[in-house]
Amino acid sequence: MKLPSPFEEIANSSKPAQYRVYAIRAVLAMIMAALIAQINLDYLESWLYDFRIRSEVLQRTSGKIELVYIKPSTIQIFKGQPNAKDQSAILHNLLAAEPRAIVYDFPIEQAQGSEEDKSEWAQLISSHSNVFVATPDTPLKGEERSLYLPIPYDSIRMVSAPKTSDTINFAKDRVTRRMLLSYQGATMLPVTLAALYNPEVQNPENIRGHFDFYDTTQSFIDFRRPGSFPSEVFDDLANGSVDWSRYKDKIVIIGTDLNTSEADYILTPYSRIPSAMTRIEMQANMTDTLIRNSSPLRMPHYVNWIMLTLISILAIQIVLSMSPAMGLVILVGTLFSFSAISFALFWLFGWWITMAAPLLAGFLVYYFFIPYRLIIENRRSWEYYQKNKLLSQVEELKTNFISMMSHDLKTPIARIQGMTDVILSDQVTLSPQQREAVDTIKQSSDDLLKFISSILNYGKIQSEGVELHMQTKDINTILQEVIRKHEFLAKVKRIQIVSELEPLFPIRMDPDLMRQVLSNLVENAIKYSPDDTKILVTSEEKADRVVIQVSDQGPGIPEDELNNIFMKFFRSKNVKSTQIKGSGLGLYLAKYFTELHKGKIFVESKDGKGSTFTVELPMEQGGVNA
Ligand code: ADP
Repeated sequence: MKLPSPFEEIANSSKPAQYRVYAIRAVLAMIMAALIAQINLDYLESWLYDFRIRSEVLQRTSGKIELVYIKPSTIQIFKGQPNAKDQSAILHNLLAAEPRAIVYDFPIEQAQGSEEDKSEWAQLISSHSNVFVATPDTPLKGEERSLYLPIPYDSIRMVSAPKTSDTINFAKDRVTRRMLLSYQGATMLPVTLAALYNPEVQNPENIRGHFDFYDTTQSFIDFRRPGSFPSEVFDDLANGSVDWSRYKDKIVIIGTDLNTSEADYILTPYSRIPSAMTRIEMQANMTDTLIRNSSPLRMPHYVNWIMLTLISILAIQIVLSMSPAMGLVILVGTLFSFSAISFALFWLFGWWITMAAPLLAGFLVYYFFIPYRLIIENRRSWEYYQKNKLLSQVEELKTNFISMMSHDLKTPIARIQGMTDVILSDQVTLSPQQREAVDTIKQSSDDLLKFISSILNYGKIQSEGVELHMQTKDINTILQEVIRKHEFLAKVKRIQIVSELEPLFPIRMDPDLMRQVLSNLVENAIKYSPDDTKILVTSEEKADRVVIQVSDQGPGIPEDELNNIFMKFFRSKNVKSTQIKGSGLGLYLAKYFTELHKGKIFVESKDGKGSTFTVELPMEQGGVNA
């Protein structure tokens, strides 16, 4: 069985064939989707991920976290880092404010002071279970000793709170996007802190968006813009100018913001500058994400697959079925809507749908199939061109044949007419029946000759062989001639021809052709009008034109045919069913001849209410080949 081409014209094919074409297109789209899925688009995806985070409007926090910074001003005031004694004093005050937890996230062992002061501070820390010392280290199982500081801080067990960055995986741009929840079963500090408010996070299974990675459990951070967490400078705590009650029931994280060590800072989805966010603000973001349990949730692979495949199918469908401009508008519209939905889902529910692959698929599939479309279209227009060429050759042959035949018919008809004239002349005596028969022969041969003349004129037009023989003449003279010639025909149907001819200046025209135009209009008016009606023929000058009108009280022309009656061989459906004879060439020739004179011909008519044909000829016919 021959499979249909996916580019086949769907509209003209049968239903099963259409379904087969759609199915093949879908399979092609799936193959493209599978290929695109192989491309590593992490960099693009990370950029789109960051953009989603950055554009989040609602930036609410749990309000449970306070930051305290040791800044360069602190160093100035304390003439160095605050020493152990200063730290003890502040810790006393802080503890008195009853916070839920206090976290030191800097190397406390580097603080200066006497051994006594250091011991006292260490004692104060280790005797309070809600005071934590953070370390960036995550020792292996069995190496937990490294969590203990040297004497005199050896009673303190530090808690791991490392910073993660995408160095090897995902974007490889050193930006922090994820956090460690546990390593080899050991819980990380943000989890412990968050559990003080939200105990369910103690079990990593309850943490939204958690995933396992080697020996770790991780989740993405629901970042807040830098500066989202309230902060104080250590100096203000030291000089007592701070309202201690603000720390009640809060997690207070103390750290450094000295611009001296890269380890104090992280790169964030908001910014890649080295001091984009302090380390303790990162701890705040991690802890706050867990308190709210709002880690972004990466959608399962199958969802991303469905999106990728749907967009590929749509793109292939667009490129092979729609006009290029419309197709591009719909494609861009779809990709835009897809992006808008992805952003909205991220902002509202923290759902992270992979965007890079579907967006790329939309454009790649579209542009990949455009050449195929062009080939098909070229082939089609070549076929049309060939068919057209053949048709015009056939048309030419037909016209030539008709003209030749008509020409050859003219001589025998002229002979018939001559003979009937002889018979009808007075020398021959005929019985009434014979005279009637000969009259009919004469009438029929007249009709035949008229018909042949029209065909010959038509042939001339087709071969562009009509020549104008221009003369200066009063069109009224021609009109009167035409009316006189048709009077007999009108009288038979008791039709009255009324003429209202204004005196006119003579104009340049080919009298024979104009006679044919006007004869045709008057003859049609008589032919198509019922007995006992009137025909009005008028002529007048209007601005730079001569206007001739022939109005009748005949059947009129249906509105849907008004545009067609000047087409060759057209006959109204009203007259086709009657006995009235005609070739459908008269008005075609009239229009052609009028336009040769740079004139216009048109009709106004209401079905059943008569017709008015108007011919307008310019007084000055510049450009006519006289
Ligand atoms: P035909 O030889 O059929 O008269 P024409 O080209 O002169 O051919 O006219 C085309 C068609 O226009 C006619 O067949 C007829 O249907 C319609 N038509 C032309 N003149 C009139 C008229 N005065 N009243 C009604 N219909 C007309």
